[in-house]
Amino acid sequence: MQNNTIGAQISALKATLPKGVQLVAVSKTKPMSDIQQAYAVGQRVFGENKVQELVEKYANLPKDIEWHFIGHLQSNKVKYIAPFVHLIHAVDSLKLLKEINKQAIKHNRIINCLLQFHIAEENSKFGLAKEDISAFMPSVEAEHLTNVRIRGVMGMATFTSDTDLVRNEFKALGVIFETLKTQFFAHDDAFKDISMGMSGDYELAIEQGSSMVRLGSTIFGAR
Ligand SMILES: *Cc1c(COP(=O)(O)O)cnc(C)c1O
Repeated sequence: MQNNTIGAQISALKATLPKGVQLVAVSKTKPMSDIQQAYAVGQRVFGENKVQELVEKYANLPKDIEWHFIGHLQSNKVKYIAPFVHLIHAVDSLKLLKEINKQAIKHNRIINCLLQFHIAEENSKFGLAKEDISAFMPSVEAEHLTNVRIRGVMGMATFTSDTDLVRNEFKALGVIFETLKTQFFAHDDAFKDISMGMSGDYELAIEQGSSMVRLGSTIFGAR
């Protein structure tokens, strides 16, 4: 994509996103020069889904960038991003949460996390199911994890042109968020984010209460 197009896309998107919806610019596979174009128009929040790529970009780009890890994260790789990552979007196991906590303690940080839920029709081995909440949350609470902060939920809708299906899946994530909020985070003001919506479906996600959209191709062009 042309250099100036990225900045223009970001500016146009920001003008249309409702207040309270954060734009995560998904820069995976894209060169650092693309990120710099976005940075030049004020974008500071970027999402990556590969540990090595994220570490490399972090090392070489301005330090006021807020890096979000949006992909599936293996426990043995948490240590590489723990020194700097701002938000981990896709936490779906106690094992991973405990490892994030352990690494956060090492670096004297609190690491923000979202719980990933499986809302799509498609089979996926990633993400919690809403039926897991009643067992998962008490097991999390029993661990007294001091250095992770669970800030909300994340999910991905089915990749389809069936807008009713996508809408219902996002709606279901909203219900999951409310259930968690009521039952486990009623007194926690930090639990407030619903990360849903990608280039193809972010408008539906916003309609269903998204507070964070993760947009890649719409900003940086096809991968
Ligand atoms: C790649 C990716 C995105 C961005 O996808 P686009 O369709 O390019 O906007 C969002 N979320 C996750 C988890 C991704 O892996």
